[in-house]
Amino acid sequence: MAEGFISTQDLRKRLVAGGSSVSLSTVYRTLTALAEAGRADVFRDANGKQLFRHRPGSDHRHYLICTECGLSLPVGSGPVEKWAARIARTSGFADVRHAVELSGRFPDCLRKEERAQTR
Ligand SMILES: [Zn+2]
Ligand SMILES: [Zn+2]
Repeated sequence: MAEGFISTQDLRKRLVAGGSSVSLSTVYRTLTALAEAGRADVFRDANGKQLFRHRPGSDHRHYLICTECGLSLPVGSGPVEKWAARIARTSGFADVRHAVELSGRFPDCLRKEERAQTR
């Protein structure tokens, strides 16, 4: 799975193993709130399952995520940031946030699959 990304179920398991008796809905609410506040990245895997990753600090990044192995690479997002800032400015909305996910198949994974098919 993607480095640093964790499902609500797995995070709850970890918390429970650490002696906390937190419910799944509490974990989900907390992670969703963090994501909304820009403190966590959300990724939806091929099955539609939401995965979260805590975002340390206030840096804001977009990732290109491999749907095969979960590898995530930070990518430049200049035009997206400009576009989002312009919408925020012209719409009159406050605290405008955005989440952009790019996913696809990493070249190495593609090659692995091709090799498997020709075998
Ligand atoms: Zn991959
Ligand atoms: Zn952005």
